Amino acid sequence: MGDDNTAAGNRSELGDANVVVVATGNSGKVKEFAHALGKLGKRVLSLHDFPDIPDIVEDGDTFAANARIKAKTTGDALGVPALADDSGLRVEALGGEPGVYSARYAGEGAADEDNNAKLIRELTSIGASCSEQQLEDGSRQLSKAQFVCALALYDPVTGEFVEAEGTVDGFITDKPHGAGGFGYDPLFWLPQLGRGMAELSKEEKGAISHRGDALRKLIPLLMKQQ
Ligand code: IMP
Repeated sequence: MGDDNTAAGNRSELGDANVVVVATGNSGKVKEFAHALGKLGKRVLSLHDFPDIPDIVEDGDTFAANARIKAKTTGDALGVPALADDSGLRVEALGGEPGVYSARYAGEGAADEDNNAKLIRELTSIGASCSEQQLEDGSRQLSKAQFVCALALYDPVTGEFVEAEGTVDGFITDKPHGAGGFGYDPLFWLPQLGRGMAELSKEEKGAISHRGDALRKLIPLLMKQQ
């Protein structure tokens, strides 16, 4: 994020070709984008750096629609291209919920801990179990699940979007594993690695995550445009 943490100070950096505006106020996402884009020599500014941008109403039915809303609102407000991420968790035993409601599953403004507690409660209440086999620590896998990430980059000059979507498959466990990442990461088990998402470093998460997958698809599309 910018060093001069005032809206006016940060606006002065918007002409810098190495600055990427990411239309999110989610600190977990900001850290992941800063890490991934930092490797390409880019510096990330986020909605934390532009507190004067009004609250964005995410009323789309899909991740892609919400990503477009966030990218357009932010790009139009700042007059420069903005990258938005709308993402969430689809849980098979819950018919794909919480989906686009992932951030507010336990209510508007819910903390990650509240959302995670609700997820376990819902899965337990329907007796969900997708494997009789326990993991080494005695925890159980309750349902198949998928993280989804829709990315949209909007250019306010042309009015055009460049979009990509990424996913990663795993299982929801009844107990947390690890303390890294954010959101539902502690409950997301990756059988192919034998580890939980919250046990991975940023580098490891970026290599397999829905966000990493979407970014790897988006970057060549951007290169093609230049
Ligand atoms: P959004 O900011 O409206 O896109 O909401 C995204 C929500 O989905 C977050 O608040 C998390 O609950 C969840 N989510 C998205 N990506 C991840 C991730 O990488 N790990 C864990 N949870 C995630």
